[in-house]
Amino acid sequence: MNYRSTRDSAKSPAVVSSAEAIKTGLAPDGGLYMPDHIPRLSSEDVLALRKMNYAERAAYVLSMFLTDYDKKDLEADCREAYSEERFPGGAAPISTIDKKLCSLELWHGPTCAFKDMALQIMPRLLSRALKTTEEKRRAHILVATSGDTGKAALEGYKDVDGVDISVFYPVDGVSRMQKMQMTTQEGENVNVCAVRGNFDDAQNGVKAIFSDKSLAEKADEAGFFFSSANSINWGRLAPQIVYYISAYCDLVENGEITDGERINVCVPTGNFGNIFAAFIAKMMGLPLARLICASNSNCVLTDFIRTGVYDRTREFFKTMSPSMDILISSNLERLLYICGGSALTADLMNSLKETGKYTLPEGILSMIQRIFSGYYMSEEETAATIRDTYKNNGYLADPHTAVGIGCARKYREETADPKLILIASTASPYKFAADVCASIDIETQSDEPRHILAALSNGTNTKIPKPLERTLTMPVRFDRVVDPSEMSAEALKVNRK
Ligand SMILES: *Cc1c(COP(=O)(O)O)cnc(C)c1O
Repeated sequence: MNYRSTRDSAKSPAVVSSAEAIKTGLAPDGGLYMPDHIPRLSSEDVLALRKMNYAERAAYVLSMFLTDYDKKDLEADCREAYSEERFPGGAAPISTIDKKLCSLELWHGPTCAFKDMALQIMPRLLSRALKTTEEKRRAHILVATSGDTGKAALEGYKDVDGVDISVFYPVDGVSRMQKMQMTTQEGENVNVCAVRGNFDDAQNGVKAIFSDKSLAEKADEAGFFFSSANSINWGRLAPQIVYYISAYCDLVENGEITDGERINVCVPTGNFGNIFAAFIAKMMGLPLARLICASNSNCVLTDFIRTGVYDRTREFFKTMSPSMDILISSNLERLLYICGGSALTADLMNSLKETGKYTLPEGILSMIQRIFSGYYMSEEETAATIRDTYKNNGYLADPHTAVGIGCARKYREETADPKLILIASTASPYKFAADVCASIDIETQSDEPRHILAALSNGTNTKIPKPLERTLTMPVRFDRVVDPSEMSAEALKVNRK
């Protein structure tokens, strides 16, 4: 299977292997890499997958896309990435919230958020790619983060062969728990640094490093190159397809649905990566009916799905589901490419860059509307959903998951569609414990992370996840704060060991 850019002209497609796509992340023309065809999942495949554990399922599905990887290597990597040690109790278990409403819990990994599902395996895929492409240099991963991604990337890349990682976060732009998680990070190949400014300053700093030719030369002389762990990398997307297939197998195995029965999926969405993975699973032939795209008050995607107009020129809200506070959903480009081809995609992306908006042609909009529905939740609705779901269903949801639950319920009320809805639950309630406590009227002694976690645990009679509990007592290793202008010097530093 070859990969090509979403903006590449159909006449002279430049194709690369999956290893190359994972190593480079972004295509040279600024587009995103996509496989040249989507493999079919046969009923025999599903039958075989049903009997496997998560790691085996992951290797099976990944090998359909990463055809230049050795199957045995993928199996070994998946066994390690999705081990019982890293995902105690299983990688992607399903809980029942309500009749025909299930939660696919993607947060049982080392950082308690769904990014672990991809970031535990992707570094291993990169490490293999460096070997198969005979890369002599080390890869230096740069990440600007507003919270979840930074920690998940650090945990994924720590002590991985041939790779170093630097994470930059805005000094006052992450929660105390998130900051604590990052500054106590273990591993010999990691660097964590606060940046004076907001998330955009950190993000622009990283982008500037990526596009600085003289810096690339200096890195090259020192024996490394810069790379990204961003969700636009195919190496992050492919592993996300697995859990939809895995969940379907589990639902059949547990007798919740019959084999072949169609279900709906609802995904709390930011960058459109997670829901796009569900779309690929559907294209492969998994019996998924409707894909419900759930947003918070930054409802640019809801409007897009309903009207065909993508307009990022609007007010930006900071919400209690910060990982979805996004106005440019990068992975949407992949959907445009599948529905409309590369020429249209290049046009629309250009228009987005120049004017901040674009309008879909009528035919493409109706294609998208046949599959996707868009809903959003205000902050009040999100808090009310956390409360009602806890009080009425005994299910404790984080704010991102609550956006998904609320949107799924809205969809059901509006359409009376009786199909089972699988909600992608993207974070542990403990990761956003302060807002969860406030929503279900639990008082906290102070805003110290340890007090908040203890209050949630005592108030709901649930356990603090081990990794978060451990973070509370770990020593701080990284306390540097730099100006944005000092980031490039910082990025050159880590490899000097
Ligand atoms: C990243 C993230 C999301 C959004 O996922 P996308 O793939 O960007 O749509 C939702 N919830 C949580 C907790 C996240 O960390």
